[in-house]
Amino acid sequence: MILNSMRSQLLTLSVSAILVTSALVVVFAMQAYKDLYRQGASDDLNGLSENLSIDLMIMMSDEPDIFSIANLLLKLDQYENVRIAAVYDQQRKLIQPYYGKVISNTSLANSEAVISQINFDDYKSFDVGMHADKESVIAFKRIGEEELTLGYLLIINDLSMPLKKSTQALILKVFPFVFFTLLITAAIIILLQNRSIKPLLDLSEFMRKIRLSKDYGLLAKVRGKNEVKTLTEGLNSLMQDINTEVEKNRKQTQLLLDQQSQMQRLANYDSLTNLPNRQFFISTLANEIEDAQQKRNDLAILFFDLNGFKWINDSFGHEVGDKLLCYVADEVSQLVEDKRFASRLGGDEFLILVNNVVDSQELLEFANTVKNELCQAIVIDGWRIEVGVSIGIALASDAHYNVSELVANADVAMYRSKAQGRSTCTLFVQSMMENNKRRIAIASALGDALRENEFSLCYQPKVDGKEKIQGYEALIRWNSSELGFISPAEFIPIAEQSGKIQAITQWVVNQVCIDMPRLLAVSPNAVVSLNISAFDLRDNELLTKISALFKKHNIKPSGIEFELTESAYLENFEVANQFITQARNLGSYIALDDFGTGYSSLGYLTQIYLDTLKIDKQFVDGIGLSQRSNTITKTIIEMAKQLDLKVCAEGVETPSQAAFLIDNGCHLLQGYLFSKPLPLEAIEHLYSNRASNFH
Ligand code: C2E
Ligand code: CA
Ligand code: CA
Repeated sequence: MILNSMRSQLLTLSVSAILVTSALVVVFAMQAYKDLYRQGASDDLNGLSENLSIDLMIMMSDEPDIFSIANLLLKLDQYENVRIAAVYDQQRKLIQPYYGKVISNTSLANSEAVISQINFDDYKSFDVGMHADKESVIAFKRIGEEELTLGYLLIINDLSMPLKKSTQALILKVFPFVFFTLLITAAIIILLQNRSIKPLLDLSEFMRKIRLSKDYGLLAKVRGKNEVKTLTEGLNSLMQDINTEVEKNRKQTQLLLDQQSQMQRLANYDSLTNLPNRQFFISTLANEIEDAQQKRNDLAILFFDLNGFKWINDSFGHEVGDKLLCYVADEVSQLVEDKRFASRLGGDEFLILVNNVVDSQELLEFANTVKNELCQAIVIDGWRIEVGVSIGIALASDAHYNVSELVANADVAMYRSKAQGRSTCTLFVQSMMENNKRRIAIASALGDALRENEFSLCYQPKVDGKEKIQGYEALIRWNSSELGFISPAEFIPIAEQSGKIQAITQWVVNQVCIDMPRLLAVSPNAVVSLNISAFDLRDNELLTKISALFKKHNIKPSGIEFELTESAYLENFEVANQFITQARNLGSYIALDDFGTGYSSLGYLTQIYLDTLKIDKQFVDGIGLSQRSNTITKTIIEMAKQLDLKVCAEGVETPSQAAFLIDNGCHLLQGYLFSKPLPLEAIEHLYSNRASNFH
């Protein structure tokens, strides 16, 4: 394209140059021709006028012979170009004029006009000799010798017409030749150009091919000479460089792409289960929510975790735990079809996205299917494992199509399911959020409670079969300046989840140490029980801190019993065992609280060193009401005896419960029947005079 235009440009240029040159040559030739012609005409006229002036000498000698002169001048008729002629006497006075053919040949009217314009006196003063102007050659000749001048002869030859004619004739003659020459030259130029431009055209075609194919591995054929050859070689070397670079770039890009997809996998998928991770899930969820909102659809998420996963992990080892997670991930993947999307959020938490929800009943059915599939017992590494799942379900429409609100709602619903203790599915409703708001308010108020000294302790006596006080359980009370009185059953789990339990436990231990002398003053041999949370056990330094407090307050460790709930023990049995060993080494006692509510397997009881089992209130409540409760209570007491453990029944409210327990050999009783948890002052007031005798 470019070269084609270059070719036509070159052609135009060459042809123009030839044209101009030819034109100049013609013009110069014309000029030379004109000069030559003029010269020739002047020479001819010179000769003619010389001859005539000689002829005139005879006629002018004495009296000018006008007739002969006129006759002589008439001879000029044979000369086509003579315009006028005249003979003057010595005094340059006109003797005889003559009008040449040039004038007479023009039309009559014109010739008359021309003749009337001619004044022969205008010429008489010329110098003798030849003259010329643009249009004519003038001869002014002396007749006779210089010393004896007889007169003068004037002849004016017209040049314009003959010049024009002869020029025209010349042009007519020359033109075909010039035209032909031009044609041949142009043809030669085109031929030559084509020949020299061909390699360039080939190069241009080559470049076009590369531009279209992007194949930088191509090489141009080296053709032509000199510059074109150098150009082609240069281009080829450039192409090789580009090709090397392109290849290098391609490899680098591929590497980057590979790394990117690997990073993307790492960034978006969970390495253990291969399920999409939290980040991927949340970003997908955000897109889906936006889409659903636009299309006025609804979507839901199912949020669940595995009940007792921690225990499974701790009991059977992390490998089994990981395999369990992979099993769950596989099961979930199979349940999730194209309308759904599953993800592992981390730990044992999973999320399923359900698109296009039309019917919440259908949604609940799906959630139940997930639950039922996962709740089946499986065997991993020879262990028969039963998992439970607590599922929270939340709808985008209930969360105003807001991602974090939706996840928070599902979390709240899951928390609800968990609170029910069994594997359940709960659909989020707004009232749960109110509940959650209170949780948040409690969590934030807890931050100030210690600083503002809002906690206090109550002590609930534990009595023996003879109703003699053997111990007290320290139970925390919180009267919040913001929220009023809040039960520990409500705020302790929140403190555990918001990371505030350890500071609270420290406060309780410290307070018990402070109160201890006064309690012992009321009941000298009493053992004071402290509740230790599962979360406390995560602190490896817990017992070091406690024993430091004992030392500081000069407390005998044997006066203290630590109550660990059965579930806290089972969730953390490694750390719990460590704590138990250290506590017993120190001389303190260990009680297993809420016994019977945890896992069905009791095998672990043979492996830990406990002092007391605390039968949970739910069994005590059932005494006398259900045969099952009676049996369980009896069995627990029996078993404890065999294991050489003390048994304490909590929540004893009626004399018949107390009687049943005592009859079956329960060592300690605790409950409203004997005393509610009371502040230290009340304990002192009520029991100090009775010297530890309850009634
Ligand atoms: P828990 O350790 O099982 O404590 C026994 C609970 O049963 C106490 O409730 C007590 O007041 C209540 N109770 C005792 N006898 C009866 C009865 O005859 N009838 C009824 N209906 N209830 C009775 P409280 O004080 O509200 O504590 C609730 C739970 O909060 C405790 O259950 C314990 O898990 C936790 N807790 C209390 N104080 C502390 C503490 O200082 N530290 C920790 N970590 N947890 C504590
Ligand atoms: Ca307790
Ligand atoms: Ca209890």
